[in-house]
Amino acid sequence: MKTYSNQKDLYWNPVVETLPPRKMRELQLKKFKRILEWAYERSKFHRKLYQEAGLEPGDIKSYEDVAKVPKVEKAMMRDIQRKDPFPYGDALCVPLEEVTEFRQTSGTTGTPVYQPDTWQDWEWWAEAWAYLLYAQGYRKTDRVFLPFGYNIFVAFWAGHYAAEKIGCEVIPGGVLDTEARILKIQELKANAMMATPTYVLGMADTAKKKLGIDPARDLTIRKITCAGEPGASIPSTKKRMEEAWGAKVYDHVGATEIGAWGFECTAQPGGLHVNEALFLTQLEDIETGEIIEEPGRKGKIVITALDRIAQPCIRFDSKDVAEWSKEPCPCGRTFRIIQGGVVGRADDITKIKGVLIAPSAIEEVVRSIKGLSDEFEVIVTKKGDLDHITLKIEILPQEEKNQEVILIQLKDQLRLKTNLGYNIEVHPFNSLPRYEVKAKRFKDLRKHD
Ligand SMILES: [Zn+2]
Repeated sequence: MKTYSNQKDLYWNPVVETLPPRKMRELQLKKFKRILEWAYERSKFHRKLYQEAGLEPGDIKSYEDVAKVPKVEKAMMRDIQRKDPFPYGDALCVPLEEVTEFRQTSGTTGTPVYQPDTWQDWEWWAEAWAYLLYAQGYRKTDRVFLPFGYNIFVAFWAGHYAAEKIGCEVIPGGVLDTEARILKIQELKANAMMATPTYVLGMADTAKKKLGIDPARDLTIRKITCAGEPGASIPSTKKRMEEAWGAKVYDHVGATEIGAWGFECTAQPGGLHVNEALFLTQLEDIETGEIIEEPGRKGKIVITALDRIAQPCIRFDSKDVAEWSKEPCPCGRTFRIIQGGVVGRADDITKIKGVLIAPSAIEEVVRSIKGLSDEFEVIVTKKGDLDHITLKIEILPQEEKNQEVILIQLKDQLRLKTNLGYNIEVHPFNSLPRYEVKAKRFKDLRKHD
């Protein structure tokens, strides 16, 4: 494997990105204690949470002690927002007049959570994104297009600011429609872009069908940073995007309440680095709560933003599931890697017919079969005591003659990769719902019975 460790230009922060693990844990512990104390002294919510657990900031003396600190869940954040000061509630650690940014969570279910940030926090957001963009090869010479409407959601706002911080030239493609965005990319010869996987594929589709433009041949985009959905970490979906655009596609993970905490680097090691300089990421056994340090064991991600001050994020239970990679990354960063990225949601990982399954496993199979469109839908229902899985797919018009072969291939792969049988429905091409931003392709209707 090629190693790059002598090329300082590869890192946004060469010192911290190559820190030996032991030194990194020391730094993280120091920062963890600082933010815990900050929240304990300033937020009623945090102080009550810790007092009820019989814990004071001074009790945290070692890295292992961190696991004693109670976790925070999204539902708890929703509850505090009915309290003063309006509209954030009592987890706020700064006077209201220090808040400069309002955002809210973009989850597809439940009431959104409001997120206040100070100007210092906003610069921290950009710093986190600067680590990730730099690791993905963004430099001063890049012209970056953002095909994204700016609104109350944080996604790509911080990417925009970070690209500027690195020195890139940024084109805000906000209110334009998809066709106008494609033409603008062509006109200005933009060479980088940030979007959700669903939109990356949708844009390529629109370019070909409506404008007769083949993005891989006719456009100059050579790197794409994805967010919002797991697609860029699902090998077959990543391949579809890379082929459609003739570009490298890189993943990133983040959340409004947490920050941009993980990223893929140009070495594309088959996983995402966690940004250990700004976050403390822990994996916890889903059933026992034990902290997992060894590779190859899935756990729930519990995460602390070490430097975020307005509404601190301390031991936040992200409900995302991941596992540590066995291999160090050829890029030379010592930031640990979660293998295959976030592999599912603890809530979505569900037992069907007694088998544990993550919806991303079904996506991986569908997107790996040549002849199927990018759209699909999975519906789980219960008839009597039995679970039924219906998988709706579309066959590309030019492949209809091969339907029988495609379906056999699909069934075999599903059986092999997920250990489950499916009732497969073939729907006319272009009839399944298309999504602009976050797709909702997995529907578990058993809970409503
Ligand atoms: Zn790397």
